[in-house]
Amino acid sequence: MGFKVIVVGGGPVGLVAAHALSRAGIDFVLLESRPSIVIDAGSNLVINPMGLRVLGQLGLLPAFDAVSSPLAQIERLDHNGKDLGTSQAFVHISENHGRSLRAVSRHDLTAVLYDSLPDESKAKMFANKRVSNISITDNDVTVICRDGTSYNGSIVVGADGAHSVVRDQMRMLTLQASQISGPEDSQVNEEQPFLTTYRALWIRFPTQGDLRPGDANETHGRDVAVQLFAGEDTTVIGIYEHMDMPTRERIRYSTADEEAFVGRWGHLPISHGLTIRDAYNARVGEGRGAGMINLEEGVVQHWSHAGRIVLVGDAAHKFTPSTGAGCNNGIVDVVTLSNELADMFRSIGGVHNIPTTAQLSAAFKAYQATRFDAVIAGCVGSGQVTAMATWQGQLVKFVDRYVISNRTVEKFIYSRAATGMAKSPVFDYIDGEEELNGKVAWTQPMKSSNFAVIN
Ligand SMILES: Cc1cc2nc3c(=O)[nH]c(=O)nc-3n(C[C@H](O)[C@H](O)[C@H](O)COP(=O)(O)OP(=O)(O)OC[C@H]3O[C@@H](n4cnc5c(N)ncnc54)[C@H](O)[C@@H]3O)c2cc1C
Repeated sequence: MGFKVIVVGGGPVGLVAAHALSRAGIDFVLLESRPSIVIDAGSNLVINPMGLRVLGQLGLLPAFDAVSSPLAQIERLDHNGKDLGTSQAFVHISENHGRSLRAVSRHDLTAVLYDSLPDESKAKMFANKRVSNISITDNDVTVICRDGTSYNGSIVVGADGAHSVVRDQMRMLTLQASQISGPEDSQVNEEQPFLTTYRALWIRFPTQGDLRPGDANETHGRDVAVQLFAGEDTTVIGIYEHMDMPTRERIRYSTADEEAFVGRWGHLPISHGLTIRDAYNARVGEGRGAGMINLEEGVVQHWSHAGRIVLVGDAAHKFTPSTGAGCNNGIVDVVTLSNELADMFRSIGGVHNIPTTAQLSAAFKAYQATRFDAVIAGCVGSGQVTAMATWQGQLVKFVDRYVISNRTVEKFIYSRAATGMAKSPVFDYIDGEEELNGKVAWTQPMKSSNFAVIN
């Protein structure tokens, strides 16, 4: 058997991994537990220049632009509908990095990513495959699905989201390998690495009345905040509620919980005289157009095991949605991991050669080392923005009400943040034209001098 990757999870991050492998000429199989890879489920996502640049390199911006809406200023209200002043955050980011942030439904994002894959890659992607078990040897991995089928490969990439089975299996294998019994050991991840302080209800409803595609609104106030992004056909709001007690448990919410949530907060204004209850009553789409979830937060300590298993996206880190950064960071994970693997393959003469476990382990560790601090900063930043929007304390309430809407302060914040975003990478083995040309130059040019094919 040649080198083969098993990607677990066909969400946005797993699909970017499929592109990365396909372009590298590396054999792979992708296993997705849902009945179909592209389904009408989940909230809308904002894709920022970090993610847009990668989509551009893959040649996907025309298709993506056709299904997404550009975002400009954010109108901000308090719980009483009082104007808190606009935020120009998206405008500054667009000017600095050369492209408007865009809101897209999860369905349309995954459709753009899936449809653009070559047929031979699509033939390697299987729905209705819920991975339940992983075993490893010195040379390979075997993944077993709940339906009894199994797949053999060289490595597993866990792109299976916040409740990752790959992460659970990795933990179990680490415990078995080292014959240790507790999470005190520094190599063993916590069993429940994410802490939930906020729960959320998201609602999809038609973009109608005075709402216009591209509208962005936020409602802030004690313990609850709302974010609204209007798309071409539908608008999505996310309502974030501070919980009385943080928890590490996974909670599955019922329709009754959802209705109780709307009972508590349905009166809050969201935009143009509409309330949360108006949105809930008008909800549309498969999956009832609404969903209630925990907003887990945290960064997993160890992202790989024994040079055979590695985590990307929400399986490795989970942010609150307030800064729209979770998916974008997952895309950057895939780019960084792919570049490390590309370097490794160059060093052994190409993708047709088989790397050793030690070489793979070194590439995985280099990937995590490159990403770790940025991901921690992103996670902390996102949590702070959620705390500010839900007025968790007098100081953040003051900053939210009186400081954020100050044009000079906001511009300063985003010019500082631009240096970090400009370091965002692109694939170093894929040739592409730079389509994001803003005021701040990217640290890694699209056509880097390192550009070299790996097969
Ligand atoms: C309300 C809300 C708003 C958000 N807004 C934004 C935003 O604006 N911008 C942004 O960047 N991010 C946003 N996020 C975060 C974003 O949704 C996630 O970061 C992103 O979806 C992570 O992608 P992923 O592919 O890693 O994981 P997921 O999207 O969770 O996908 C994992 C996939 O793996 C599959 N899977 C799970 N278990 C198994 C198994 N055992 N076997 C096989 N397959 C399996 C699942 O079915 C799923 O398809 C938001 C999140 C929420 C909740």
